Amino acid sequence: MLVLGSGPGGQKAAIAAAKLGRRVAVVEKRNMIGGVCINTGTIPSKTLREAVLYLTGLNQRELYGASYRVKDEITVADLGMRTQHVIGREIQVIRSQLGRNHVTVLPGTGRFLDPHTIGISGDEERKVTADKIVIATGTSPARPDSVEFDERTVIDSDAILRLDRVPETMVVVGAGVIGIEYASMFAALGTKVTVVERRERMLEFCDLEIVEALKYHLRDLAVTFRFGEHVAAVERRPRGALTLLESGKKIPADCVMYSAGRQGKTAELNLEAAGLAADDRGRIRVDAHYATAVPHIYAVGDVIGFPALAATSMEQGRVAAQHACGEPVEELRELPPIGIYTIPEISFVGKSEDELTRDRIPFEVGVSRYRELARGQIIGDSYGMLKLLVSSEDRRLLGVHVFGTGATELVHIGQTLMGCGGTIDYLVNAVFNYPTLAESYKVAALDAMNKMRVVARLTADM
Ligand SMILES: Cc1cc2nc3c(=O)[nH]c(=O)nc-3n(C[C@H](O)[C@H](O)[C@H](O)COP(=O)(O)OP(=O)(O)OC[C@H]3O[C@@H](n4cnc5c(N)ncnc54)[C@H](O)[C@@H]3O)c2cc1C
Repeated sequence: MLVLGSGPGGQKAAIAAAKLGRRVAVVEKRNMIGGVCINTGTIPSKTLREAVLYLTGLNQRELYGASYRVKDEITVADLGMRTQHVIGREIQVIRSQLGRNHVTVLPGTGRFLDPHTIGISGDEERKVTADKIVIATGTSPARPDSVEFDERTVIDSDAILRLDRVPETMVVVGAGVIGIEYASMFAALGTKVTVVERRERMLEFCDLEIVEALKYHLRDLAVTFRFGEHVAAVERRPRGALTLLESGKKIPADCVMYSAGRQGKTAELNLEAAGLAADDRGRIRVDAHYATAVPHIYAVGDVIGFPALAATSMEQGRVAAQHACGEPVEELRELPPIGIYTIPEISFVGKSEDELTRDRIPFEVGVSRYRELARGQIIGDSYGMLKLLVSSEDRRLLGVHVFGTGATELVHIGQTLMGCGGTIDYLVNAVFNYPTLAESYKVAALDAMNKMRVVARLTADM
């Protein structure tokens, strides 16, 4: 098997095939082992977030006062040190995992010469043939033609990691997950951030109440939102840039970050030679086992589009390799959690209130607020909340929405219960460690149960 790209999808495909006894090689550019995930995406952004939270002392201010800080002047060197450390370690882990499983890494850029042959250009030109090929080449930031990027003043989410100083003011164009995560990190650092979004709301797939809570927090960190606004032009000036909106507004800033979606990395692949084609956003179409229109060629990860997450990419890679090796495979479960690492963080699994209402599925809401939990008080998180959406017919858990400290970890308790088809009776009767945030499940389940009891009582009275 030959795998193109060493991001989460490619790695897991390669290792799964190697475990099944196949001879496997991965083609990857010399400085990109681990993919976008390790080098420019998930890992640097999440490490940066951790560095920001630690150095600003933001999470401790509830307890120690608004002026609490670990370091007064936070520089990009302070932030970059932690990021580079983690990236370096993660690359070592991946190299070691590939090596242990006898997966050969072929440095360079791969392209199809025919459906079974890949030409690799890099330090030396070579040709490799394989029975099965997995395309896991990911994406790169989409750059509108009308905007001149210069890597310093007008940048995308790759270049934000290479800024030479923390900007005082910043415009973020696009309030998608990446845009809003970086907006919240820079706002926490003290940058005055303006977010420009052409839609009327942001993160539409999230629970509305939680998005409102996030907006409230970001406004508190001096973020300005401009919803329903289109960027007409970005003009570079000697000391920053001027973002001109179609409504006539002019927003001055030290730096403008475009976060306007991502483009599948298929242009270099010469897909025609394999009998394949990509759509206008560079994405490749696949079936339920991630096979493309050419049955021995698979595609996984961001290059196939939604949901474009590291966790789903890994699982797609494993499923594709199993299928390619003729092993029985289960299709991916329809229950992936979503984590958004804003400050504060958001996570959810299952349905939202809007979806359930649209589908006319009756539900009850159970809420737990961190400020009513001993652990919430201990860590100084007074805003966090967990919300359970419960079927009023059979008490099954239909959705879990979490906002605040540990949201991306906590969501998995609900995911497990939902995956096993459980009801909230389990949560009501279970004993949770005290004091923990996990206890919020029990509190929210009791809240939902009490509300359902009131409905049942009134119904019985009729
Ligand atoms: C800023 C940011 C933050 C993110 N945060 C999160 C998060 O918190 N959680 C989460 O789950 N996901 C997050 N993501 C998404 C996550 O990074 C991706 O879903 C994941 O990296 C996709 O994995 P992949 O296997 O498709 O490959 P990628 O990680 O995209 O890597 C693809 C690799 O293929 C290589 N390649 C491309 N073309 C060729 C070629 N022709 N020959 C050889 N190699 C090639 C590239 O060099 C690259 O290394 C984030 C992304 C970004 C940009």
